[in-house]
Amino acid sequence: MKVLVINAGSSSLKYQLINMIDESILAKGNAERIGIDNSVLSHTPAGKDKVEIKAEIKDHVQAVRMVIDALIHPDYGVISDMGEISAVGHRVVHGGEKFSGSVIIDDAVMEAIKENIELAPLHNPANITGIEACKSVMPDTPMVAVFDTAFHQTMPKEAYIYAIPYDAYAKYGIRRYGFHGTSHKYVALRAAKLMGKPIEDLKIITCHLGNGSSITAVKNGKSVDTSMGFTPLEGLPMGTRSGTIDPAIIMFLMEKENMTHDEINRYLNKESGVLGISGVSSDFRDLDAAAAEGNERAKTALHVFSYSIKKYIGAYTAAMGGLDCLVFTAGIGENNPYIRQKACEGLEFMGIKLDDERNKLYIRGKEGLISTDDSTVKVFSIPTNEELMIARETVELLK
Ligand code: AMP
Repeated sequence: MKVLVINAGSSSLKYQLINMIDESILAKGNAERIGIDNSVLSHTPAGKDKVEIKAEIKDHVQAVRMVIDALIHPDYGVISDMGEISAVGHRVVHGGEKFSGSVIIDDAVMEAIKENIELAPLHNPANITGIEACKSVMPDTPMVAVFDTAFHQTMPKEAYIYAIPYDAYAKYGIRRYGFHGTSHKYVALRAAKLMGKPIEDLKIITCHLGNGSSITAVKNGKSVDTSMGFTPLEGLPMGTRSGTIDPAIIMFLMEKENMTHDEINRYLNKESGVLGISGVSSDFRDLDAAAAEGNERAKTALHVFSYSIKKYIGAYTAAMGGLDCLVFTAGIGENNPYIRQKACEGLEFMGIKLDDERNKLYIRGKEGLISTDDSTVKVFSIPTNEELMIARETVELLK
């Protein structure tokens, strides 16, 4: 069974074709600058060089057609015809309260995803466009929606209700939803496997640290709290996002700097985070380099970030009444031993002891235990694989 995984953005369409017999990637790629000039499809068949197909890609329907053409191409294709694709799994950002798991897409599901546009105005419309484009090119292929928010629907009320008038929840659905659910679920399952224990018996904290970052408490296989909230702006400081701040700062700044709604939105989402603190970059590689050269603000940015991770580890250990396993994943979590070390520093009293050598060893896609043998909490670096999780859920639903 071969599953095509689609992650559609407003002007891009990322894809992977996965052979579910051995979960190997047959091909992957990205159609970029859809509807803009200089559009291009980059296509990489397994074990071969990347091919760049430059052509005007006017919309997502054309992008999907080009993806299929690339997949069946005599030189760089990996299947002989479209019929070999058994199903398509779509990443959808917001499932609201309607979806606590993945679903086979039908008209009612499409309607419900559309109803959630208000909650994810930047993402859900693009995801819908991707689904509709695939449906028009592959009308007979079953499609599944896998939501970023679904894994967190198990949170108890005390974790998802904000302390503002309850009307805001009842009227507008303002509550904590959480994001990166597919990644948190994938690495939590993987950690349980590495520990050789059922996930139902474990208390796990998963740290997804990338350009966008979130931390989740996974108790007995279920998300019981997560750091992102109503939107992906809450929680840890991120590349360019502020994360949690005192809400009064917003009113103060709007008044002092005469900021409009759009300006404060941009300020908090694009100009803040480690970029805002350091003035150097949102990329942790640049921050590491600047800090090594003595840049104080870059050092502060790294320390604000790692201190925030540490606080969540403490809070979620308390929320779960203990901790068996801590996981680092995504760009920074998988590749930055310094951040992992700073986040865990001083947590020996909780049974978290990192092994310096292992911590330096497990980077760049290498999965492994980075805690000492006598650390009671097992700490892992685990490369995330959201596409594989989407493909697995797609297969599961179609069984
Ligand atoms: P993501 O959003 O998961 O792609 O993560 C982006 C962040 O991960 C950036 O801040 C990068 O500095 C960091 N990152 C990604 N790959 C590497 C790498 N190979 N080495 C060090 N940092 C990396």
